[in-house]
Amino acid sequence: MKSNKRNILILVLAIMLAFISSACGANAVTEITTMPPEQKSEGSQDEQISSSGQGTDNSSDNTSELIVHFLDVGQADCTLIQLPNGEEVLIDAGNYGDGSYITSYLKNQNVDDIEYLILTHPHEDHIGSAKEIITSFAVEKVYMPDVSSDSNLYESTMLAIENKGIEIIYAEPGLKIIDSPDLKFQLLSPKSMYYSELNEYSAAARLEYSDTSFLFTGDAESVSELEMLGGGFNLDSDVLKVGHHGGRTSSSRDFLQAVTPEYSIISCGEDNSYGHPHIETLNRLTDIGSEIYRTDELGTIVILSDGQNISIESDEAIEIPLAPLEILNTPPVQNASEDKEPSAISETNYVGNKNSLVFHNPDCSSVADMKESNKIFFTTRQAATDQDYTPCGRCNP
Ligand SMILES: [Zn+2]
Ligand SMILES: [Zn+2]
Repeated sequence: MKSNKRNILILVLAIMLAFISSACGANAVTEITTMPPEQKSEGSQDEQISSSGQGTDNSSDNTSELIVHFLDVGQADCTLIQLPNGEEVLIDAGNYGDGSYITSYLKNQNVDDIEYLILTHPHEDHIGSAKEIITSFAVEKVYMPDVSSDSNLYESTMLAIENKGIEIIYAEPGLKIIDSPDLKFQLLSPKSMYYSELNEYSAAARLEYSDTSFLFTGDAESVSELEMLGGGFNLDSDVLKVGHHGGRTSSSRDFLQAVTPEYSIISCGEDNSYGHPHIETLNRLTDIGSEIYRTDELGTIVILSDGQNISIESDEAIEIPLAPLEILNTPPVQNASEDKEPSAISETNYVGNKNSLVFHNPDCSSVADMKESNKIFFTTRQAATDQDYTPCGRCNP
């Protein structure tokens, strides 16, 4: 009897081992403690293999865990937050065309309703697949800034919200979405009624779970950052979702000093045409001692919090980031060529978006946010309107 039992035990152990090692191939887990990065020696004692990964055990309701998924949607944003109270938040919905990926990712996490959908601002790389999300999931409330866009995408998104009778709440600083003793979720922007950049309208949000905190700023740039600083909010956060895909016009020094994130997440596409993240941003983040994690390098990044400690997982193995000094020593001069707009723009008079069917002047900020593969170039206005493209309401091409 005894040896039978032992055989069964060995079999069970072998199965467990096989499972753990296969999970390890797909998912790298780095347990982050409060230990400063300098003390980590080659990572091994800090790296733990866990079978939890992105499996179903992440998604059971009423766990005491907060799970934040920064989905790899290329040059765009999409963040799923599974709150410890069992509710779900989705911040932004990737580009047009990311809908099936986002939908299946959410379904894999057993998400069927989204209590809070935050559409930070109506740029294509943020509301791109919102319509598909709204039609595929039970969305309870939509939070968005009170600003419109004349893109077909924006209009079809609004129509989908209306058709499903979903309540829209306009974002404003100080608006509390959740306010319980251990869990607080609050919007911090936009403060003003008018900005020259659509990005500045971004609805930024701060999430606090016991001793851990997260800040999500959409594409907010320095004007809005300054307003958040002046708003008297506690901006200090363990994790910062870096503004505007790491662009240099966001993450201003004073703002970062107030946030002092231990971990900075940048959502951007591999070899994107904007050169995101910009070296100035990376330098400012390393200057304040923040560790940087990028979706273009790591794929989808998942952060878990038990209220005290934070751990980070990603599709790719996470290497301990370079010491800040090594990055600081690279001369920032060399990326002057990155500053240039994509070369096609200089020879063209109008840039259209194949998804929204809106065309712009090349210097419109919508063009800066547009996915390269979505661009179509026109030499004349007539050529654009002949193909049923409508002019952008902001740059009036
Ligand atoms: Zn964006
Ligand atoms: Zn934007």
